[in-house]
Amino acid sequence: MTRTPRRKVAQPARRRPPAMFIADDRGLDFLNSVATPTDTPIDWIENGDGLLDWLAQARLVPAKALEALRVQALPGELDSVAAQARSLREWFRTFIRRHEGRSLTAKDLGELKPLNRLLERDEEFGRIVAHSDGKAIGLELRTMRRWRSPESLLLPIGEALARFVCEEDFTDVKACEGPTCTLIFVDRTRGRARRSSTSAQDTALEPADRSDASCASPRSP
Ligand SMILES: [Zn+2]
Repeated sequence: MTRTPRRKVAQPARRRPPAMFIADDRGLDFLNSVATPTDTPIDWIENGDGLLDWLAQARLVPAKALEALRVQALPGELDSVAAQARSLREWFRTFIRRHEGRSLTAKDLGELKPLNRLLERDEEFGRIVAHSDGKAIGLELRTMRRWRSPESLLLPIGEALARFVCEEDFTDVKACEGPTCTLIFVDRTRGRARRSSTSAQDTALEPADRSDASCASPRSP
C-alpha cells in the first residue's frame, strides 16, 4: 500500500466551471448553486473558497470586500460560513417546493422566521455617490453594507431570498424540463412559455459571464 505524503501546502482550489445564472432571479440562482450541468453534480459553494467565487460571479459582494475577508478570515472560518450558506439554501429549497404554484400570504410568515432572523443581522447604511453608469449627471443614494465578518457574506444572499419571496409570483417558478436537469427559474416570458434552463439567459450578465448550461439541448456526440 502506498502512503500519500502529507501535504504541507494547501491544495489548489478545485476548478469549477462558471456558476450558473439562468434563473432570472438571484434568489433562485442561489438555489441553482448546486446542480448537475452535465453528468456530475457540482456544488459551487462546497467550501469557503467556492462561496467567495460564487458571490463574486453573482455580483452580490464587491470584489474588494471579498478579498479583504479572504485575507482576514481565520482558518476554517469561511468553510463554516459556506456550510451555513448550504443549509440556508436547502432550507429555502424546501420552502419553495412547499409553496410553488401559489402566491404567498401572511399565513406563510411564520415559516419565514429563519430568514427574518438573518435579515435582522444586517448592517446597511446609505451613502451619497455619483451615478454609477457614468452617463447621468448627478448623485444617487446607494445602500451600502459593512462587511465586518465572514458571516456578513450571508446577508446579501438573505436579501436576495427575501426579495424573491416578496416580489416574485410563485406561480411563475418552474423546474427545467431537461431530463436530468435540477435547475429552477422564474418564467418571465410572455405566455409563460419558458420550459428549460437554456431558453432564456440572465440578461444582467455579460455574455462572457454566462455559463454554457446545455441540459435541455444535449450536445451532439
Ligand atoms: Zn435545465
